[in-house]
Formats: sequence, structure tokens, C-alpha cells
Amino acid sequence: MTKHIFVTGGVVSGLGKGLSGSSLGRLLKARGLRVTMQKLDPYLNVDPGTMNPFEHGEVFVTDDGGETDLDLGHYERFIDENLTTESNATTGSIYSSVIAAERRGDYLGKTVQVIPHITNEIKRRINRLVSDDVDVVITEVGGTVGDIEILPFLEAIRQFRLDVGRDNVCYVHVTLVPYIGPSSEQKTKPTQHSVTELRSRGIQPDAIICRSDDPISADLRRKISNLCDVPVSGVVNAADASSLYEIPMVLHNEGLDAYVCDMLGLGDLTPDLDPWRMLVQRVEQATSPVRVGLIGKYVSLPDAYLSVVESLNHAGIHHGADIKIEWIQAEEVEGMLAAGRLRDLDGIVIPGGFGERGVEGKITAAGYARENDIPCLGLCLGMQVMTIEYARNALGLAGANSTEFDLRSPHPVIDLMESQRDITDMGGTMRLGAYVAQLKPGSRVAEAYGEEVVSERHRHRYEFNPKYRTRFDESDLVLSGESPDGRLVEFIELEEHPFWIATQAHPEFKSRPDRPAPLFREFVAAALGRAEGRNPQLPSLETQSALAKS
Ligand code: GLN
Repeated sequence: MTKHIFVTGGVVSGLGKGLSGSSLGRLLKARGLRVTMQKLDPYLNVDPGTMNPFEHGEVFVTDDGGETDLDLGHYERFIDENLTTESNATTGSIYSSVIAAERRGDYLGKTVQVIPHITNEIKRRINRLVSDDVDVVITEVGGTVGDIEILPFLEAIRQFRLDVGRDNVCYVHVTLVPYIGPSSEQKTKPTQHSVTELRSRGIQPDAIICRSDDPISADLRRKISNLCDVPVSGVVNAADASSLYEIPMVLHNEGLDAYVCDMLGLGDLTPDLDPWRMLVQRVEQATSPVRVGLIGKYVSLPDAYLSVVESLNHAGIHHGADIKIEWIQAEEVEGMLAAGRLRDLDGIVIPGGFGERGVEGKITAAGYARENDIPCLGLCLGMQVMTIEYARNALGLAGANSTEFDLRSPHPVIDLMESQRDITDMGGTMRLGAYVAQLKPGSRVAEAYGEEVVSERHRHRYEFNPKYRTRFDESDLVLSGESPDGRLVEFIELEEHPFWIATQAHPEFKSRPDRPAPLFREFVAAALGRAEGRNPQLPSLETQSALAKS
């Protein structure tokens, strides 16, 4: 029998429900349980694919091409499982299914209503993840208890317990215990109100995760237990941690996994937390500073680049390097260059993006990195930008561009594929999800991956224009990976440069804390090399790696 854990949030948004759920997932996996996760999002967009990164952060892409909420990235990184489109459902997608069924006549003339039709569809989505291969499904309900849009979801998860049996469901509620400066007190009232709100929807939480700046006292814990009718052992404190990888250890030390397993009859297996503990240790030991400039359009909201940042951190953990990200607004590159500030960077990352704004700044940064031996990693749009830069400045193709930014470019080195030309629907029409690439034997990327056939996730419309292949083939820029049919360019790399490598894919979506994505790993190695060259008293790269592994 598959067990279900539902994670809801109260008081304010942004409490890290996703990270709390992921951390619990990690703890259950450490007990040998098979865990999967999903997110139910109350907003009306059919998927996050069309949402502005400024509002909603990064769109996380799954192997099967789902454009999903960034919390799925946390899930994958923490439970170390590849998820699918089925792990993210929005109100928009749920209503779309119900309305389509109504139009087909599936409801046989009945009045179609939120209860039972929408709630049944929500329950069907939850049940999609149930299988003989799954012991526990963790379902996070997005938004905050008290939101108007969340009501059908709360009703669905309330009914769910009745459907599958009381012993098979556990409700975990994440709240905030704020500190009020003038009275020097931590306050439980918001938690009480939030639990009251949840109860008014028929859900009594089984466990409460109290987020706080500083640890809460035993008295406060008893008070919350008493007023919210949750056993003291189910009141868990997650005070701010110095790294997000510490959260599973925090929740374990608070006894959350033992409590939940006891409740759900999942046995009292001893969790094997040594690998995770070692990871946390290595995070603490990663102290050699490496300054990475991230040149983007959405830098005012770092969540827009969440997986890129995490991948850099994973690579940093691997090499014992403390990644310091310099957020660089693409339009400001010229000014920074003039002020000599790009020179101080140990590496430059040009991440994905859409639209023309800031592209010229990224091209300038790519060129500066190329000419000054600064390690540079291009991801998706980053590869397109590096291709344009090389075409203009090394191949002499004046005005080279992508037709995304200049339809009349004399040298459209990046262009739409034939099949993409007439698309007007903006949802789900890109090259999405996992695609295999064949790497050139002996190339830097083949060396980095340690294999010649690799799969990475994609999300883009434009491609390297095959008409320009021969021009590049005759140059120092190696087209070092392509689609198996040879039509699409997937990786490029520059000979005789510490690291000037890019991919049309998004390798950041597959990086894991203990297995950094190969290109990020090699990029950070190169950046660390530059940092050491600048600062010779730092221990060597080998010493750092040895330290990190010990
Ligand atoms: N805008 C580019 C394209 O659509 C790159 C997309 C991206 O970086 N994800 O091809």
C-alpha cells in the first residue's frame, strides 16, 4: 500500500515547503523506502512554461519535456529521482481536463462542479503517482492556507484520507514562528491561526514544521503542541540553516522522519545518513573562493537561475570551492568591462534566456572571456551567444545574429528549424526534454562526460544554423557534439582556451549534489585554476579535491 504525505504551508509564502518536503523525502529514502514527489499548484496557468521568470523563477524541465515548477528541481536533487510531467499539476491543467471531458460529454449531462468534478480530477492526479514501485508519495500543495485558489486542493486532500484510509495519510503543515524584536519574543499566534484555518477545511495536521530565525524553546514547542493538538514529537523546528543541504539533518535531528514513519507504519528502519552527512561536511569544507560572473537578464530574481546556481554549488562542493556568484545584469556588461571589473572574475556563465534585451552584453562578455582566457560556460542561449560572438569576431561574419533578435541578419548563424516556423501557440512548442547527443571522440566535452553518447534536457526554439557548419569546421571552434542524425549542433568548444565551452542543452537540470553535471564540474575546475593563478597561496586544485574527498 502506497503511503501519502501532504505538505501544506501557512502564514506566509516562501517558507521552503518544497525544501522541507524534499528533505523529508531524502530521509525516507535513506531508510530504503521508494519515494516520489509532486507539486499541486493553485494558479491558473496550464503549466509554468509561459510564466515570466521574474514572477515565478526558473522553469524546471523534466526528461519527458514537462515545463514545471522549480520545486521539482529541489525534489530531484534531494530524492535523487528523475520525475516526469505527472509530478506537477496546476489549477489550469486540472480545469482544462475537466472542461475537455465536459465537452466530450463524459459527464452525461450532469452539472459540472468544483466538488466533485475538480476535486476528483485532483485526486486522480495524486493517484497517478501511485504504483507497486512506490512506497511513499509526497505531495506539496503550493500557495498558502487561506488563499482562495487553494480550497479545491485542500478539499481533495481531505477526502483523500477517507478514500485510502486514515493510516495511509500524513498531513505536514509548514508555518512561521516570527521573532518580534521590540518584545524579544518568538510568537506562536500565526501558527495557531494557520492551523485553525486548515482545520476549518477539515484537515487536522499530524505534524507541524515551524520555520524560525533562531531555534524555538521547549516551552514554545509545548505551547504549539497544546494549542494545535499535535503531539510534542510532531512539532518540529526548522530554524534557518547555513546551507540548504543541512535541512534533512535538521529535520532528522528533530525526529520528523521517525515520527512520520511511526504514524504511517513504515517501520523503524535505521536510516543510512552517512552519505548525506559527508555531503554536508564537504559543503563546510568548500572554502576556496571562486568568483563566477553570471550574466543574465533576470538577475534581480536569483530564483530565475536556481538550477544553474545549484549546479555551480555542486561543482564547488566537488572541488572544495566556495562559489561566489556575481550577478551581472547583461545590459551593464559594457560598463563593467570599461571599469575593468570583468577581469577580476574567475569564470563567466552565460545562462539560458529569451528575447533580445541584454543579448549584446552577453556577446561582449563571451568575447572578452574568449580573448582573455577566462573560463566561460554557455547554456542554451549561452551557446547561441557564443556562436554569434565567434562568427562576428573570429570568422569575420559582420552582423551575424540569431533570427530571434534580428530577422534581417546577413548571417543568421542561429535560426529556427523549419518545423518551428509557423507556430503561434506559445505553450509547450519548443524542443523540450531529453535529447541524446553524439560527442566527438577525444573532444573536451567527451572527456568531461567520460562517454560519447549523452542525454541532456532542452528548452528552446532556435538552433545552430547548419548552413554555417563548414565555416565553423574550418576554424578553431569545434562542433563537438551533435544530434545522432547529425542535423543539430549540441556542443561547441574552443581549442587552446582554458574553457570556452557551451551546449544547446540545459545540463543544470541533471546536476545532483554528489554528482555535479560534468560541464559544470570542469568549468569550476578551470575557474578554480584561474583563482589559484591569481592567488598563489591557495592550495592547489589537487589538494582541494583531496581535501574535499577526505
Ligand atoms: N531563446 C533561445 C531559444 O528559444 C534560447 C532559449 C533558452 O535559453 N532556454 O532558442
